[in-house]
Amino acid sequence: MTADPTDPGVPGISVLGTAQRAAWLDRTLPPVERLPGGLWSVPVPIPDNPLRYTLCYLVPGDDGIVVVDPGWNTREGWDTLLAGLAEAGATTADVTGIVATHVHPDHHGLSGRLREESGAWVAMHPAERDTLPQRIAVAASRNSLPTAGGWLRLSGAEEDEIAELVSPLDESATADDRAAMAEPDVLLEDGDLVPMAGRRLRAVWTPGHTPGHLCLQEPDARLLLTGDHVLPRITPNIGLYPNSADSPLGRFLESLERVGEYDDHDALPAHEYRFRGLAARTRLLREHHEERCREVVAVVAGLGEPTVWEVARHLTWSRPWERIGRMRFGALAETGAHIDHLVRRGELAWRHGENGSPIRVRSTT
Ligand SMILES: [Zn+2]
Repeated sequence: MTADPTDPGVPGISVLGTAQRAAWLDRTLPPVERLPGGLWSVPVPIPDNPLRYTLCYLVPGDDGIVVVDPGWNTREGWDTLLAGLAEAGATTADVTGIVATHVHPDHHGLSGRLREESGAWVAMHPAERDTLPQRIAVAASRNSLPTAGGWLRLSGAEEDEIAELVSPLDESATADDRAAMAEPDVLLEDGDLVPMAGRRLRAVWTPGHTPGHLCLQEPDARLLLTGDHVLPRITPNIGLYPNSADSPLGRFLESLERVGEYDDHDALPAHEYRFRGLAARTRLLREHHEERCREVVAVVAGLGEPTVWEVARHLTWSRPWERIGRMRFGALAETGAHIDHLVRRGELAWRHGENGSPIRVRSTT
């Protein structure tokens, strides 16, 4: 396998998926490729999204194929997945299992259809099952979690900003009108082996991006399927939402440290391209969040007792705040995750408002 000595954009990592990287830079779809250990990588397109594709992995065993992250549920996505299976000399009849690293639609979207066509089981971590959209909707109504508008209001957004971001549809969403996604048949806890003959594929629980995110280790070929936990260039969104598990950023940082120990494994991410250098990449991501924490502390100190919305507005983003649009949801959640982490470290403190007024945050020093 040829590897660029270094990726000029990312210090400390070497590119293994050179065709994938070339396609990434050319804005085209990379080829289906056979990988070490006999795995296959199949890029499945994501409609209208700058990520462009999900790298679905086919993992052959003695009794059939396990498909990891089949991709976004569109007709084109389905056809691409079938073509990928054909290139690997297989059909849906050979698929015995499906593993979702997490339940975001660009990973888990096609799991239901693939299960229907193949009779395969679907597997995920139990904490991820609990975040399936149909389960979140039920849990949210039971625990009377705030709606999107209520959440923005508590974060300190003005009414006109809330109206701009939230459509009446979001507010009336119930368990019935949210798209249900495939429930798992098999639950994988940390350290569990994926049920398949002739190959070891081990679940490594890496909460952070989502509460039940899984990486998968193939120890014999020294591969780590990293899902969205570690990508070569992009930083995954780590957000604090009303239904978040405890301390998403703290968990993510711990999960990064864990995965950094697989430095002698090839990293097979769900987007962009394959690479080597998990120790360097995870160190860089940890440093990025530490820098972001320093910026949040400085912004809070400068503003006195701001709302989360005010902190988010004053942070630097890849685009000016005015042009972020609906991505403000993610930006706000990410700001909340950093504040939550700093509160747990004792550097900031929450001040809960009275009578539904916004939550504020202050320095403790
Ligand atoms: Zn993804």
